[in-house]
Amino acid sequence: MALVGTKKMFEMAYKGGYAIGAFNVNNMEITQGIINAIAEEKAPLILQISRGARKYASMSYLRGIIDVAVAENPDIPIAMHLDHGDTFEICKQCVDDGFTSVMIDASKLPFDENVKVTREVVKYAHDHEVVVEAELGQLGGIEEDVVGVSSDDISKHLTDPAQAEEFVEKTGCDSLAIACGTSHGAYKFKTEPKLAFDVIEDVSKRLPGFPLVMHGSSSVLKEFKDLINKYGGDMPDAMGVPEDAISRAAKMAVCKVNIDTDLRMALTAKIRQVFVESPAEFDPRKYLGPGREAIRNMVKHKLHVLDCAGKASECL
Ligand SMILES: [Zn+2]
Repeated sequence: MALVGTKKMFEMAYKGGYAIGAFNVNNMEITQGIINAIAEEKAPLILQISRGARKYASMSYLRGIIDVAVAENPDIPIAMHLDHGDTFEICKQCVDDGFTSVMIDASKLPFDENVKVTREVVKYAHDHEVVVEAELGQLGGIEEDVVGVSSDDISKHLTDPAQAEEFVEKTGCDSLAIACGTSHGAYKFKTEPKLAFDVIEDVSKRLPGFPLVMHGSSSVLKEFKDLINKYGGDMPDAMGVPEDAISRAAKMAVCKVNIDTDLRMALTAKIRQVFVESPAEFDPRKYLGPGREAIRNMVKHKLHVLDCAGKASECL
């Protein structure tokens, strides 16, 4: 089957109390690692592409890789989503490029301006049967060119549930990324973070059945941080979002959970390990291969944290 949008996935995830994993892709090995995991676990999937990924790999190569993944897995619903589009133009470009879902992140702008640009994107995307994720509130951390508030200020920039209700009504967006205490990147928190479940709860009461999205939701897995540091890396101690908190949010109105940092760390850890253990190795297949395998295992684990394993057929 062809690429799908996220409407059916979110509807089933909301009803079933699980969330869909949205994984960032930049190259063939990362994509294959993710695809191998979802094919084994029969999970619905969102592959997301950032502006940085478009620049790095070029859209035509990424599209080619994703088209093969879709053709080889006809029993799995796969959506292709733009992560953090910051202007109408980039969102329009992605709709024209065949994305089935786009994110407009105008969360840095004042409320009324965020509403205005989000509405424009919604109008264009819906005319082309593409769904739109928007964002309200500000996350912490840094991811590529998305710079958020400092970790001490995260709790001051949570999404206001009343504003979220107004925002969704005014824009007609299909899902909303909210700030509920998560943070982008590998250096999220010094101590274990507390997610604002009350914000999720309040928004879901105001907007029954409406899917919410959690960004900055990697767990910064200790296994990979330890491997990176053991094999010559120097990643400072930091905590991610605990997996039990992600599972809890997935049972609530959160229907999409974004994971990028954990993919990067899995790949990097394995490459470092091969380089240190086999310093004479110069065959890229011998270090990218184990990296791809580490991604497969990590994603399989995440699909169970989100509880979307085995849910592919009901989302078709
Ligand atoms: Zn994000």
